[in-house]
Parts: sequence; C-alpha cells; structure tokens
Amino acid sequence: MNCNTFYNEPVTDTPLRAPMEIAFDYTRSLGPVLGQFMTALRERRVLGARSADGTVHAPPFEYDPVTHRPPAELVAVGPAGTVLTWTWLDRPLTGQPLGRPFGWALIRLDGADTAMLHAVDAGSAAAMRTGMRVRPRWASERVGSIRDIECFEPGDAAPEVARPAAEDADGSAPVTMTVTPVRLRYEHTASPGESTYLRGLAEGRLIGQRCPACGKVYVPSRGTCPVDGVPTDQEVELPDTGTVTTFSIVNVAYPGQQVTPPYVAAAVLLDGADIAFAHLILGCAPAEVRIGLRVRAAWRPRDEWGTTASTISHFTPTGEPDAPYETYARHI
Ligand SMILES: [Zn+2]
Repeated sequence: MNCNTFYNEPVTDTPLRAPMEIAFDYTRSLGPVLGQFMTALRERRVLGARSADGTVHAPPFEYDPVTHRPPAELVAVGPAGTVLTWTWLDRPLTGQPLGRPFGWALIRLDGADTAMLHAVDAGSAAAMRTGMRVRPRWASERVGSIRDIECFEPGDAAPEVARPAAEDADGSAPVTMTVTPVRLRYEHTASPGESTYLRGLAEGRLIGQRCPACGKVYVPSRGTCPVDGVPTDQEVELPDTGTVTTFSIVNVAYPGQQVTPPYVAAAVLLDGADIAFAHLILGCAPAEVRIGLRVRAAWRPRDEWGTTASTISHFTPTGEPDAPYETYARHI
C-alpha cells in the first residue's frame, strides 16, 4: 500500500485526507481444464465442456455439475454466438475491455448451452439487442487469456481463420498460469484523533490521547476509549523511546518491498503509552531483537517531514538494559 502526501488543510482541526492505492498482481495456476481453455484461446479457438447430461458449458466447468467429476470431453464451440441479455456501459473504467462505451453481454456461443460474459463493441446502446449475432474480435497479440478475445462485435461469420499455435510468437507450450492485476484507489479520511497524531508526526512529535475515565494513553488515538466508550480528548506528548512487546522476523520477499529480508516488524510500546503500535526494528541483526528490547525512533531527515506519513523511518536499539518484565507484561 502506498500512502501519499496528506493534504495540508488551512484549519488545523479539519481531519486530514490522503489518496491511497492498493495494487498487486494476483497470480494463480489455471488447472487442467481452464489451462486448455486459455491455450485454445491463444490459438483463436473456444472450448466448452460436455456434461454427463449432454449439455455443453462454455466457458468449460472444472467439475461436472451432474457427476462432480472433471469433464470427460472438451469440444470446440462458436466462435460466433447469440446475445442472450446485455447492459450498456456509458463510462468504462480503467482496465475494462474497451475504452469507449460498450455492452456487457451474456453470449451463448454456437454449439454451447450456457452463456459467457464478454464485451460487445456495438457502437451504441441502440445497436444492441437480445438475439443479435456476434463474433469475436481477436487480440492482435494473444497470450492465453480471456483477453485474447478483445471483445465481440456484431456479425455472424468468423472474420479470421484459426491458425495453429506454432505460428504464434508464444510458441506451443500449454498455458498454465494466469495473472489478474488488482488495484484499488480510494481516499482515506483520518479521524480527528488520527489527524492529531499525523500532524504531530509532521512536527517530529508523538501525540497520544488519555482516557479521562481509566487514564490509559492511546497512540495513535481513535478518539474514544474502547474500554469506557468516552472521548479521549486530553492530548499527551510521548517520548520517542519504547519497548518491543512482540515481533516477527520477515523472511518473505514480495514486489515493492522497501527493506531487504530478513528484517523485523515489531509491536513497540512507547514509554507512557498503554497500547503498542507496529513498526520496523532496524540497526541490529534480526536475531538480536527480543521481547523487552529498548528501542528509539529513527526519524527521517527533517526536510522530509510533512511529505510522508512515515516521518519515523524505523526504531533502533537504544543499548539500554532490557525493560523489566512487569512494564510490558500486559501487552504480550
Ligand atoms: Zn478508558
């Protein structure tokens, strides 16, 4: 997840807002049936699966709805078909099959008994109708994906003759994997308590809030005490030193990772706080990190403050003796 700059608001009690984006490539194996389906698409062919009751499903099922067994036979269908039902999309979103208005349609390919969902490039909603005949428009570069069919278009005859896979640049190796990009963009509005915490970070300060009923100090504060249910409106400035209450050594690499494994992610209980928060522990070997380790914040250079929510780069050992067990026993 990327956290970009929080907007500076002229009024300091206005909650902060920031654009966020979560994105990753979801990669998975296709299995034997969908692997054949995708491999055939690369060759400009569409396969369906014949069920034990004789019905042909396209796209093919992985398990027969009648016998629950894998399909015994995959058969060629289409590639032309008939629109069974449809809806018109006036404003396509990023990543959808076409960048201009198009129809989403359930299309029953010739020879199939079930329908598949795909885009129809009909030009306008007025040109769409249930029962219309459509044919695939194949992508110029095919990789073994449902997107090898760029879309369907009005028409009956197949516009192109299928070519054997050997003529394709991708060769004839079966398609076994698929990659689905996943992306979510949204705008996060911080709560008043979180906004206070973030504004403090931008000034190099750690600001928490104390519950007027039980006296517990929360950092960052969510604005209320989860025990007493009352507002935590008293601000408390905390030191940048604390104690590791628990930790995990990260050994798994992943795309976009900013620290090279192995490294430690830990729960750090700031001195004077009653709740720990997660942060990185760097500056020592992962094997040296332990529960009770005393740590101090490593602040980023001052000219970077206010441009990132990560004003603190990480925490690093102070060199002090470990904290007494009693000081963090309730936080393990
Ligand atoms: Zn309380």
